[in-house]
Formats: sequence, structure tokens, C-alpha cells
Amino acid sequence: MRTASTLRFTLALGGMLLFAGCAVNPVTGNRNFTLMSEADEMRKGRQVAAEVSKAYAVYDDLPVLQKYVNEIGQKLAKKSHRPKLDYHFTVVDSPQVNAFALPGGYIYVTRGILAYLNSEAELAAVLGHEIAHVTARHSVQQYSASTAANIGTLLLGVFVPQLGGQAAQSLMGLANNALLSGYGRSHELEADRLGAEYLARSGYDPQAMIRVIGVLKNQELFDIEVAKQEGREPRRYHGIFATHPDNDTRLQEVVGEAKQYIVPGAIMDDRRAEFLRQTEGMAFGDSAVQGIIRGNTFQHKELDFTLSFPPGWRIRNQPDKVVALSPEGDGMMQLSLIGNPENSPADLARQRFRLEFSSEIVSTTSNGLPIAMVTSTAQDGKPFKAGVIYHDNKAYVLAGGSTSPDAFDRHLPVITSAINSFRPLTDAEQKSIRALEIRTITATKGTSYAGLARTSPLGQNAENYLRLLNGQYPNGEPVSGQILKIVK
Ligand SMILES: [Zn+2]
Repeated sequence: MRTASTLRFTLALGGMLLFAGCAVNPVTGNRNFTLMSEADEMRKGRQVAAEVSKAYAVYDDLPVLQKYVNEIGQKLAKKSHRPKLDYHFTVVDSPQVNAFALPGGYIYVTRGILAYLNSEAELAAVLGHEIAHVTARHSVQQYSASTAANIGTLLLGVFVPQLGGQAAQSLMGLANNALLSGYGRSHELEADRLGAEYLARSGYDPQAMIRVIGVLKNQELFDIEVAKQEGREPRRYHGIFATHPDNDTRLQEVVGEAKQYIVPGAIMDDRRAEFLRQTEGMAFGDSAVQGIIRGNTFQHKELDFTLSFPPGWRIRNQPDKVVALSPEGDGMMQLSLIGNPENSPADLARQRFRLEFSSEIVSTTSNGLPIAMVTSTAQDGKPFKAGVIYHDNKAYVLAGGSTSPDAFDRHLPVITSAINSFRPLTDAEQKSIRALEIRTITATKGTSYAGLARTSPLGQNAENYLRLLNGQYPNGEPVSGQILKIVK
């Protein structure tokens, strides 16, 4: 759990308009109407990169992985239409599946997307696609178009537009669906086409572009299943794709054109083994600094607390809160860090929930921590129970409610025990908290995803997570001798 930083891109338009005019597009050689010179583009890229670094930490547990991703990126960039730009490739510490590019050559991949890739060629495809957004100046064109229409959206070199975190969402400023669906579709296809060309020129099979889009499409299909279980809207990965890449003739066509750039005599090895070697030991899911979910408990090393949500409830760790949902979807709990203690927990509770009757609050201690227990009715008429807890000079609210008074009565006992379970970590717990990691094993004759799922810490959907991790979703099985990624 991290307090979401509010990111705002105020665009200094005043001076910008003076530089409005046509610039030659590095890819097409045509003159595009654009408000931005190359110097402006660089400046804008640097500025937004500084904002990105506030929202996303660099993933620095594996310095060799940063180096590796940078090497592959630089190799592709040299074969691109803008080889002289100063490119920056960064692996960010996020479990989300995403990659994005900023104007001027700042390219980011999350460790979340790396986990689901299965070869160096697929990594190169992701990087090639993002490089293409830069070389074709998509974000600059989008920027110009949006500026002209007076809609402030800047960051559109996005591989996966829909991000989980709130900070990241405001970062993407995806206010404008019109841009993404109309304008965006042709840019995505162009990025796939150019990315495939850069792959071919760098000695990779350009078809890796199709495979990587398949990886994203499978994430989307899987998330539709998980969203159903969790009673929420599915995420949309690369929301522009209606069809699976295997059936997308337009995509097949543009990627197919890249064949002409294949270097004569190229071996086109996808370098799967090397990629798996480089990502071995990489964190998977939430990292220790973001708070970790194990079964029904949530533990936060830095903030030094643990709590147990009701058994069977689904827990989601978001940048600004932790949310748990009952299996039937009729009960919800939410933990938020609301700031520093002021006066007593009861005072804070009174303020926060606008309580009128003091009978609604009980001040007590729980696990040695001062807590105000609140039982009341929210403004929408629904009953809720909450604890305002002071711990280590911070104030937390843990609240639970239901869709109906009946459901609330049913859930009240487990909501109350969850609130009472909030406590500081023991020394032993402090020491043992760590993120899950990607490991590799060699499949033998009897290895199956169902079998691996039984001992996996990935929970209810482990079998499908393992298939996704190994590029065998939705119904592949390991073959004997295959190197498999698992999570430990
Ligand atoms: Zn894209």
C-alpha cells in the first residue's frame, strides 16, 4: 500500500503555440502538423519522465536485469528510424502488466509484463513496439491533436492503456477514449508494424510481435474470468483489440511485411533460455514494500502491521488502499491509511464519519493499539462497521459494509474479527516477509499445471496463472524436458 501521488500535467500552452507548425515525420518523411519541435519533444519527455519516477520505483533488486533490458532496447533502437536519439529503458517495480513510452525516447516496462514473456524475442517485441511509438512521434502527434482540441492528454505511447493503480491511471491521463479508439487504433497498428521491422533488422523473428500481443490478449481473457469471480469489471488490455491476434488479418498483414527486413543468414533464435536465466529470481506480484497478501492475511513490512481479512474473501492491494470482497460479492472491507493521528481515534472517527451520536463509538485498545470502533449508517442508508486504529504515529481506517442490511448482519461477526486482527508484526514475521519470485524447473513426465498449482502460493487461480506465465494459456500442458516458470 502506498499513498497515491497525484500527478498532474499542466501543459504550458502559452509559449508552445509560437512553435506550432509542420515537422517532418522521421518514419514517413511526410510533414505532420505538429505543435512540437524535437527540442520541445525532448523537454516534454524529460519532464514527464520526472513525474513517472515519482509514481513508479525503478526495479533495482536485479541490476543485471535492468542492464539486460537496456542492452536489448539499445540494440533495437539503433535499427530504428531515429537511431541517434538518447533512449532510456527502465524496468519499473510494478506487478501490473504494462509497457509505455514517453516522447523523446523514455521507455518503461514493468516487471509485471516481463513475468509473462517467454523469450528475448518477445521482450524485444515489446521494446520494439514502444520504440516505434517514439520514432513515429505518436505521443507528439497525440499531444498536438489533443492540444488542438483543448483536451489535456499527453501520454499515449501506451502498450496497455488500462492500469490498475490509481496513481498510474491519473498518470496515463486516459481521459479521452475517443483518441484511444479512433486515432489510437491506427497508431497501435503502426507501432506493431514498425516494431516488427525493428525486430527483423535486429535478428529476431518479427512474428514475436504477434506472440506478444497474444500474451496480452490472454491476460485480457483470463481477467474476464477473474473479474466474474470477483464481481468487478474486467481490465482491458490493449483495449483496441477486438479479435485475438491469431485471427486479426490486418495485424498479420502488417507484421508479415517485416519479412523483407530479415537480415540474410539470420538465425532468428528467440533466446528463450537466456531470457529465463535473466528473469530468474525476479519478484512476482506485490513486492515487500507494497504489502503482501498471503491467504487471507495482508502484511506490510515497512508500516509494520498485519491483519486477517475474513476467510474466503478476495483481497486486492491497490496503491492507496487494500480492499477485500466477500465470495458472494455482497460484503466489502477496505483498509486505508488516512494520515497522522490527531486527538483520539474517537475524535478522528467522529470527524471522518460525521457521527452524531456518541453511542455509535466505543473507544478501546486492540492488540495494544488505541482503536475507536464505530457502528453506524452511511449517508446512503447502508450500515457499516469501522475501526479507526492508531499505530506507529499513523491513523488507519478499516471499514466493512454490505449491499443490504441482511447481508450486513451476516457479515458483521467476520468484519469485527478482521478489525480486531490488526496488529504490529512480530520480529519473526518482520524477518520472513518477502515477495514471491519467479523460479524455473524442468518438467518431467508427470508434470502438469494442475499438479504444480496444488503446491503453488498463487491461490485459487494458480493453474491458469502458471499457464499464462509459460505462454500455454488456456489449455496447454508442460512436456517432459520443458523449462517451466513457477512462482515460489
Ligand atoms: Zn502501443
